[in-house]
Amino acid sequence: MSDQAPVREDLRGVEPYGAPQIDVPVRLNTNENPFPPSDALAEAMGQAMADAARSLNRYPDREAWELREDLAAYLRAESEVEVRADQVWPANGSNEVMHHLFSAFGGPGRLAMSFAPTYSMYEQYARDTFTAYRTVRRNPDFSLDAMTAVAAIIGGGPHIVVLASPNNPTGTALPLEVISAACAIAPGIVIVDEAYAEFRRPGTPSALCLLEVHPNLVVTRTMSKAFALAGARVGYAVARPEIIDALRVVRLPYHLSSATQAIACTALSFSDELLGQVDALRRERDGLVDWLRAEGLQAVDSDANFVMFGRFSDRRRVWEGLLDRGVLVRETGPEGWLRVTVGTPEENAAFRTALLGVLGMGGMMAAEEAGSDAEGMT
Ligand SMILES: *Cc1c(COP(=O)(O)O)cnc(C)c1O
Repeated sequence: MSDQAPVREDLRGVEPYGAPQIDVPVRLNTNENPFPPSDALAEAMGQAMADAARSLNRYPDREAWELREDLAAYLRAESEVEVRADQVWPANGSNEVMHHLFSAFGGPGRLAMSFAPTYSMYEQYARDTFTAYRTVRRNPDFSLDAMTAVAAIIGGGPHIVVLASPNNPTGTALPLEVISAACAIAPGIVIVDEAYAEFRRPGTPSALCLLEVHPNLVVTRTMSKAFALAGARVGYAVARPEIIDALRVVRLPYHLSSATQAIACTALSFSDELLGQVDALRRERDGLVDWLRAEGLQAVDSDANFVMFGRFSDRRRVWEGLLDRGVLVRETGPEGWLRVTVGTPEENAAFRTALLGVLGMGGMMAAEEAGSDAEGMT
């Protein structure tokens, strides 16, 4: 026997994916909401958990109907689109929702396509479900136009197209024309990953309003970001019932625990309170973008709760300099850029002070002529 476990050939030597979980005072690296649940919400969750505990001898509601009704009601209020419970599919984080989508619509001999730079997990869902994965570059300013998207889809014939909007790590939202054009030409499903939708700027629409027109459209959302519920692991897809039925085939039995369902329903009943904090975070985000630019840095326009900024000749040194000062950001995206999550006003102030300290050391900025060309944008 060798020391190696007899694992699948394509998984040999592969490291698990994940941002470093380092215990520092200011953690701005995984796009979490910095505001913990209020005492009232925490108490209501405790009560809901106690109620659920009394029937934990039974398996949970396999179809999670109450939660799906509540999610549909939330979406009708948030986006003024008619969504019914049979169009909603919740799971343990939108990561699991994506896994269901790739399992049902990808698979051996099938292709998934996305537009880089984008969320690195898409490649992993593809790998785990034996789906081929290909990315096509976004424009140098990280936007994506309908021409590029349509040409890529015609060229590749993907069974799954994934469009992150707002995109991680750039914060860029897509115009509806691009999503519509992709849906109209795609031979398979088009997933619009709206993990950060609630943070979008005024006037930026949600793809939910296209569900009626495009039968192959799937919109995914999460409670991890705007709803400040990353620890509970709740995400969901919205699509026509025929697509949801396919996800019900590939899910593991009783995939969403009674505890998770109870917590999520309780959080949804506090939507107004939670979304009030989103407004505060959006203002902080816009302030952060303005400040970075005033300091002579580049910052990408963001519709999310994070900002990609740069460019640095050696981003690792900047990342380490910030960490030395107690601020953890994310080393991700194209070479020369870093990503910072919008925190509380105090955390954002700590970030600004730390960054000024690092930049004061000199020699950090990338040469101008390197500009924002498309090199390294994968
Ligand atoms: C954070 C994030 C998600 C959410 O993942 P969960 O599993 O719901 O916590 C999904 N997509 C993108 C692009 C993200 O950044």
